[in-house]
Amino acid sequence: SSQDHGDGSSSERHDGSAKGGVSNTVVGVLGGGQLGRMLCQAASQMAVKVVILDPLESCPASGLAYQHVVGSFDDGDAVREFAKRCGVLTVEIEHVDAVTLEKLELQGIDCQPKASTIRIIQDKYLQKVHFSQQGIPLPDFMEIDNLANTEKAGELFGYPLMIKSKRLAYDGRGNAVAHTKAELPSVVAALGGFDHGLYVERWTPFVKELSVIVARARDNSVSCFPVVETIHKNNICHIVESPADVPNKIKKLAVDIAQKAVKSLEGAGVFAVELFLTKDGQVLLNEVAPRPHNSGHHTIESCYTSQYEQHLRAILGLPLGDPSMKTPAAIMYNILGEDEGEAGFHLAHQLMGKALKIPGANIHWYDKPEMRKLRKMGHITIVGPSKNVVKERLDSLLERETPGSH
Ligand code: ATP
Ligand code: MG
Ligand code: MG
Repeated sequence: SSQDHGDGSSSERHDGSAKGGVSNTVVGVLGGGQLGRMLCQAASQMAVKVVILDPLESCPASGLAYQHVVGSFDDGDAVREFAKRCGVLTVEIEHVDAVTLEKLELQGIDCQPKASTIRIIQDKYLQKVHFSQQGIPLPDFMEIDNLANTEKAGELFGYPLMIKSKRLAYDGRGNAVAHTKAELPSVVAALGGFDHGLYVERWTPFVKELSVIVARARDNSVSCFPVVETIHKNNICHIVESPADVPNKIKKLAVDIAQKAVKSLEGAGVFAVELFLTKDGQVLLNEVAPRPHNSGHHTIESCYTSQYEQHLRAILGLPLGDPSMKTPAAIMYNILGEDEGEAGFHLAHQLMGKALKIPGANIHWYDKPEMRKLRKMGHITIVGPSKNVVKERLDSLLERETPGSH
C-alpha cells in the first residue's frame, strides 16, 4: 500500500516533466524517521521528489514525503519493489537489508552511499575491524563469544569494560558497562547473550565527544561541516554545540581522521564521524553513521547549506554547498521523552511553548505517534552572537520553576 501526495506520475524513477526541479531524479529513502522527515523538508525547497519506505503508517516523514510506501526497509522483497520507483536509493538508518542492496547494485540500481558501506557500518564490530585496518585511531576492541574470552578481555582492557552489540544499535541501546569481573555474566545476559553477537571496547575516559559531518560528492570531492561537541545523557545524544570549543590543532586532527574514515568507504552522501577527545589530546574514532546525523541538526539554521540539503546534493550529483556557519554560535537540545503518554506530551509542549519566546530558538517537532521515555521527540536549535549567549538562552529555556518559588 502507499499514500500518494503527488500528481500520479509516482512510479517513474525520473520525473520527466519539463518543469521539473533542480533534479528530476526521484530519491528513495529507506526509513521515514526524523532524519527522513528533515530530508523531505530540504527536498521540498528544491522541488526534489522523495519517496520513503517505512513500516509505520504515521512515521515522522510520512506527511512530508512525495510518497510513502508502507513496508519494511529490512525486508528484501519490499526493498526490491521500492527500488523500482527510485532513480537513486539512500538511507536514513543503517539497519536496512544490505544483502538485498548489494544484489540490487549488481542489477544497476544506484545506491548512495554504496551497499558495501552500509554492510560494513551496520555491524559495529566489522566497522571497527575496517577502520583499524585503515590505520585510524580507535579504542582497543575485541570480539567475544564465551565467558572465558570475555574475562580475558577484562584482564587485558581493565574495568569498567564496555560491552556492545554488533548490530541494531542506536541511542546506546545495545551498550552495557561491566564494572567488575563478577558483573560480566549479568551484563552479557542483559545484552541478549553471546548468540546475539557481542564485542568489547576498552573504556575511554574522554574529556569531550566531538563529531564531524563529512560530505562526499559523486565526483569524490569532499567537504566538512564545522567540528561540534556532543554531550550525551544516558548514552543518548542530548546537546550539540557548534563550533566545538577546542584548540584549532584538535579541530584539524578531528577533521583529518574524519576525512580519512570517510574516504575508506564507498559512495556519495553525508557521513557523521563520532570521536572521543582524550585528556592527552588524542582523538579516537567511536563510530561512523552513513547518513545525516543528530549532531548535524543545527546546520539547518546555522550553516549556509544544511546537512540534509548537502546529502541530497551529494547523491544527486549536484555541486556541494557551503557548509560553513552563517551564525557565530549554535546550540541544539534534543527533546527526549520524559514520561510516557499524555504526561510526556504535556511536558514537551510546555518546553516548546517556552522556546517560542526565546530569541534565535527554532523548534522541530517530529510528530511521532507515541511518546516514550528517552525517545527523541523533537529538538530545539538556538543560534546567536556568541557561545555564551546561546548557552545562556538554553539555560533560561531549561530552568524549571521549583515548587514554592512563587
Ligand atoms: P548512536 O545513537 O550514536 O548510534 P550507539 O547506540 O551506536 O549510539 P555508541 O555510539 O557506541 O552507541 O555509544 C554511545 C555513547 O556511549 C557514546 O557516545 C559515548 O558517550 C559512550 N561510549 C561508547 N563507547 C565508549 C567507550 N569505549 N568508552 C567510554 N564511553 C563510551
Ligand atoms: Mg551507533
Ligand atoms: Mg554513537
